[in-house]
Amino acid sequence: MSKKQWRCYFCDEVFTSKDKAAQHFGVFEACEADEPACKLMQHQERFIEYVRGLEREIRLYQDENQPLQRAMWDLESTIRDKVNQAEEKGYNKGVQDMIKQGYCVEPAKH
Ligand SMILES: [Zn+2]
Repeated sequence: MSKKQWRCYFCDEVFTSKDKAAQHFGVFEACEADEPACKLMQHQERFIEYVRGLEREIRLYQDENQPLQRAMWDLESTIRDKVNQAEEKGYNKGVQDMIKQGYCVEPAKH
């Protein structure tokens, strides 16, 4: 039985281990395949730009400063403000209703 091999469509290199093949081809689980290592290395400048881009993206996630995360913080803050406003409005309405019914709203002052 022959051992499984992977041959690169672009550079014709043959890989006999799954790990080495994955290192060359990338491990794609998304709809779009990763760029194979030989293509990345064709133009060193492009490769450096690619790595720097990935580093920037990782840094944004680490800093929790990614656009989606910022949107979540903004939404969380907006919801918290709205809940506080609703609580204050409800409390003030309750106080006004007590006054209308003739109750004292500050019994500690008597
Ligand atoms: Zn290749």
